[in-house]
Amino acid sequence: MQVKTKGIVISETNYSETSKILNILTEDYGLIGVIAKGSRNMKNKLRGVSNKMNYCEYTISYKEKGLSTLIEGSTLNSFKNIYLDMRKAFYSFFLMDLFSQVLKENNNKKLFSLLENSLIKINDGLNEKLICVIVEIKLLEYLGVSLNMECCNICGRDDEFLTVSINDGGIICKNCYHDGYVFNDKTLKLFLLLAKIDLFKIKKLELTDDNAFNEIDKFLDEYYNFYTGIYLNKKDKLEMFR
Ligand SMILES: [Zn+2]
Repeated sequence: MQVKTKGIVISETNYSETSKILNILTEDYGLIGVIAKGSRNMKNKLRGVSNKMNYCEYTISYKEKGLSTLIEGSTLNSFKNIYLDMRKAFYSFFLMDLFSQVLKENNNKKLFSLLENSLIKINDGLNEKLICVIVEIKLLEYLGVSLNMECCNICGRDDEFLTVSINDGGIICKNCYHDGYVFNDKTLKLFLLLAKIDLFKIKKLELTDDNAFNEIDKFLDEYYNFYTGIYLNKKDKLEMFR
């Protein structure tokens, strides 16, 4: 069946002398495996649309089981600003890898628009570090271990918040606090804001407090480590950009 769908190449593997096998996260079919025949040849029409992070409208000979075949692609956004900025590029590639891991657990079609929007926002100049953290929080829902930031995870009240707890799975109030790290007010406020933000609607996003951000970032590393077995490896790679 020949189909047209928006898609983003999540990963690529060389196949034979001239081809590649791509994992494309598509808007209509979730993550699919696609062979891009001849795409490593200089003159092949698939060459420019079969690389990691290519975002295109793809025409695919689609098979529900087994490998589909890429027929053609037309670029929707070349993410020029991302490629011109090493830091943006690093964070964007980090997101690609994170999505690739999450998709192994949950091939949900909604993940397409989440990734699509994140990359567009980063390309449009929104702070890439904040976008990554917002996405990390959001992806926990798809991993079945949501971080509850709406009400105290122990008693259910929605005020007098004190801190966020890994063991309790989210925010807890002053009365229920038993042990563990306590965030200062600024950090907690930023954390609540980032957990609530609708990525699809934000137009402006600036990072004003690095310390607060780093604390949240670290917390999420530990949370992922504790509940998901996914290692958020951006710290090692990105140390030089901090
Ligand atoms: Zn409570």
